[in-house]
Amino acid sequence: MIRVRIAPSPTGPMHIGTARTALFNWIFAKKNKGQFLLRIEDTDKERSKKKFEESILSGLEWLGLDYAEEPIRQSERGDIYKNYIKKLLDSGDAFYCHHTKEELDKEKEEQANNKEAPRHACNQKSGIKSHESSIIRFKNSGSKVVFKDLVRGEIEFDTELLGDFSIAKSEDSPLYNFAAAIDDYEMKISHVIRGEDHISNTPKQILILEALGLDIPEYAHLPLILGEDKSKLSKRHGATALFDYKDMGYLPDAIFNFLAFLGWNPGGDQEIMSRKEIVSKFSLEGIQKSGAVFDINKLDWINGEYIRKMPLDDLTKLCEPHLPKSSVSDLKKIVALEQPRMKKLSEIGESTEFFFKDRLEYDSDLLKWKDMSNKELAEVLGKLEKILDKIKEGDYTKEKLEEILMPHAEEMAPRDSRGKVDRGKMLWPLRAALTGRKASPSPFEVMDVLGKEKSLTRLREASRSIPS
Ligand code: GLU
Repeated sequence: MIRVRIAPSPTGPMHIGTARTALFNWIFAKKNKGQFLLRIEDTDKERSKKKFEESILSGLEWLGLDYAEEPIRQSERGDIYKNYIKKLLDSGDAFYCHHTKEELDKEKEEQANNKEAPRHACNQKSGIKSHESSIIRFKNSGSKVVFKDLVRGEIEFDTELLGDFSIAKSEDSPLYNFAAAIDDYEMKISHVIRGEDHISNTPKQILILEALGLDIPEYAHLPLILGEDKSKLSKRHGATALFDYKDMGYLPDAIFNFLAFLGWNPGGDQEIMSRKEIVSKFSLEGIQKSGAVFDINKLDWINGEYIRKMPLDDLTKLCEPHLPKSSVSDLKKIVALEQPRMKKLSEIGESTEFFFKDRLEYDSDLLKWKDMSNKELAEVLGKLEKILDKIKEGDYTKEKLEEILMPHAEEMAPRDSRGKVDRGKMLWPLRAALTGRKASPSPFEVMDVLGKEKSLTRLREASRSIPS
């Protein structure tokens, strides 16, 4: 049975990179009718926080990445690790290193000066602890570790460069490589799919498992996520926490689609794909080796596509937190107007602000179409007010208003020498008076939402704003 996992450390809010790793594991599990599991790597007692664990759990839930079995917490598995550490100490594959911190620091510094990889080959070892800072190291006696990475092909490590690496601070406090290797075995993980930054840990984990005579999983390392400037994605490039994306108004399905393509491609140019399609097309071979650039414009585009596909009722509910609390009852109509052009939910507050304001603020020049004079403008607004006043409240619908008003365009904008009517002379001042903006939905759509009274009030206010 295929069993995969993510093993995040709860030392910060769920990272977008963790979400991508989770997604690839989840997709791989679904594709192979396997299981996706969650392990919380909380051995660092100081930096691990419950609230960050909660962020991981709710992040997975938000993205719809369900896991089989209860999450495993490393902080609750001390006895298991201790048992294995003892085995390694007994077999001589691990030992207590008696070098002091000062000695080790000095060694590191010398290696750095000689441009060598930092490592420690220990000549002071024993099976028992001798002082407070004694740590447990793995006795590294092999020459090479070779493994087949399912994304990157064969990878070879010279074990001399790893030295006698540390595996635990004491029998009760294992370090990452040790605990991770043991847990992958204990959890019967068949494939370890994780970020490329863990490649250098893999030989250490393999050596530990080999020394204990335990099964070694398959490994697949995912390409790094890069910012637009091709350096590793960091806060410098923008938000890195998954929930920042939720707050900005990205939809989980859009994030899913976007992250699935961050380092994987099924070939072809279809970029919008349902979860089902992604699962059916996914393969580890389709994962690229080179870094994957996080293109926020692409995410915006994908999100817009998902917004357009969403039923209006659902979209309205999701938009509510981004809109002012107000008496405008027909939010659905407002959301429908924005649905065709929205990229993210958070935009709706700004783009529809004018619907909710009691009074609009703008420079009266905004009301003028092309080189219109104040006099012409005043005339057009005056005529519009009269026409609109006669229309029944019940006829304030987009279609009806358009039908009634359009024939008046000619009277407000006489034909030019080529016999053409410039409808802008009517439509622009009307739309600008109703919205106070250069760009907005059509005046008929806006009046449909505002209703008779508010529409007329805005026209009157516009007329009053023209300097005499
Ligand atoms: N705790 C490690 C991390 O958060 C897990 C790495 C692994 O998947 O083995 O990066």
